[in-house]
Amino acid sequence: MYRSHTCGELNLTNNGTEVTLSGWVQKARALGGMTFVDLRDRYGITQLVFNMESDAALCERANKLGREFVIQAKGKVAERSSKNLNIPTGEIEILVSEFTVLSESETPPFIIENETDGSEELRLKYRYLDIRRPKLRDTLIMRAQINKAVREYLDNKDFIEIETPNLIKSTPEGARDFLVPSRLVNGAFYALPQSPQILKQLLMVAGMDRYYQIVRCFRDEDFRGDRQPEFTQVDCEMSFVHQDDIFDTFGGLIQYVFKKVLNHDLPALQRLKYDDAIRLYGSDKPDLRFDCKIVELNALLPKSEFGVFNTQIENGGLVAGLNAKGCAAYTRKQLDELTEFVKASHRGLGGLVNIKFNEDGSVKSSIDKFFTEEQLREIGKAFDAQKGDLLLIAADKISKVRKSLGDLRLDLAKRNNWIDEKSWSVLWIVDFPLFEKGEESGEITFAHHPFCSPHPEDLQYFDTDPTRVRAQTYDMVMNGNEILSGSIRIHQKDIQERVFNNLGLTPEDREKKFGFMLNAFKYGAPPHGGCAFGMDRLVMLMSGGDTIRDVIAYPKTSGGRDLMMDAPTAVDEKQLKELGIKVVG
Ligand code: ASP
Repeated sequence: MYRSHTCGELNLTNNGTEVTLSGWVQKARALGGMTFVDLRDRYGITQLVFNMESDAALCERANKLGREFVIQAKGKVAERSSKNLNIPTGEIEILVSEFTVLSESETPPFIIENETDGSEELRLKYRYLDIRRPKLRDTLIMRAQINKAVREYLDNKDFIEIETPNLIKSTPEGARDFLVPSRLVNGAFYALPQSPQILKQLLMVAGMDRYYQIVRCFRDEDFRGDRQPEFTQVDCEMSFVHQDDIFDTFGGLIQYVFKKVLNHDLPALQRLKYDDAIRLYGSDKPDLRFDCKIVELNALLPKSEFGVFNTQIENGGLVAGLNAKGCAAYTRKQLDELTEFVKASHRGLGGLVNIKFNEDGSVKSSIDKFFTEEQLREIGKAFDAQKGDLLLIAADKISKVRKSLGDLRLDLAKRNNWIDEKSWSVLWIVDFPLFEKGEESGEITFAHHPFCSPHPEDLQYFDTDPTRVRAQTYDMVMNGNEILSGSIRIHQKDIQERVFNNLGLTPEDREKKFGFMLNAFKYGAPPHGGCAFGMDRLVMLMSGGDTIRDVIAYPKTSGGRDLMMDAPTAVDEKQLKELGIKVVG
């Protein structure tokens, strides 16, 4: 028997008990004839004590223990004189009578505690040591609890967990596929699934009614923000449902998971239309933990000679702004920083107009030359501006203004600590567009994937104004992050054909890419819909992590490398030959 208890469970109720513990030496220190060792395992830390007076030989051996040695120790539980009430085992210690070194350790390359001196690169290389740190360990434990709660909830609602293959045919999710060459058919490739989208839809055709899978997905994308080439989804699909059924089921799921794992009562999820989210918050994943909406001014502006506003309005642009509450005292430098922020190339605004409603009741603005004080106060009314408020106004193309003000809104929240980090904002965004027009190419592409069902009442715009067609597509947004997306799917052949037509897919393309799916739909496809949770992001938010790397046992770097295994790497010439592959360049 290696242990009678773990390092996290003993307390005063065990006083006097003989126990055996096994674990890693976190720290050993000799102090006035005594040696104290912090013994760590997954469950916690227990203090071991060795006494020179009672057993000098044993104590001397203990003094030789190095960090991260694995030992087994036997002894008696005793009450500690100086207690550490910060840990559950902090009121006791073990008076050790014998111990065995199970395995020695070299000096670890970084400190294995929450506060560590290891760079992220080093920690990724020695990930198994990093996982010994309580922070990462607890996150992985929470991840397992979330998985468990998800399974409980879905099992109770008659969902069946079904595994789907990883070696499949490329299916379109909008990203690049990872390809796996076939040895048996040289020149042919499998694709790793970007998601099991088509496979789960076919499970509905197969009559499985309710499916889920906690599944790995693969997308070969360039580094963009916080992404991983492989990531985990809770992938779900249901038959004979409308959007409301999906909202009830998966809104209920997130409430269940929050209650189970965080003991937090999440209120029922509100719904916000995509168009409203973009108009009011400049984003399809608005963070509603604070207010600060975009106010559109085109119809409200008093008449003036201010060309910047007038030209934009004449050219179909937008004049809109934010009320930075309590920021009227911003200095020139702070205002310049905000201007630089919206001028950054990916936002591309020319500048920001400011109007300050000073504490002393005066109004001051960067457009004093063009507007009277009375007119400025009138503009202020649209923002419900009070003393101490700062209005920031932009004028440009509609999409540019919205996006920039949406970003600025978040930046202001950060600068001013408007966000209560303990609060949660979880909502549905609904009625996404079915199609998007490429900004440069002008080409029509699908906004989510090509199987999303249009709103029946928008079918009339299909040929004349396709970007006006709304889809029965929805996202769940948590604290400004998309954590789920999904849709009601097309189950009628004729509508699917019309979507393919709009996407410019020729009959040959369709046959080649989706023939197997279209064929299946000939045999009775039920109305169905579903969604997928981005598990890594959800766990990150629930555990308070900063990046999704924090919640994955063995993540890749932002450049897609596994530093621990050193992958990807070149392979033997022989392996390539079998695959019929020649590496050029
Ligand atoms: N397969 C979709 C995705 O990965 C989710 C869905 O529509 O169910 O985003």
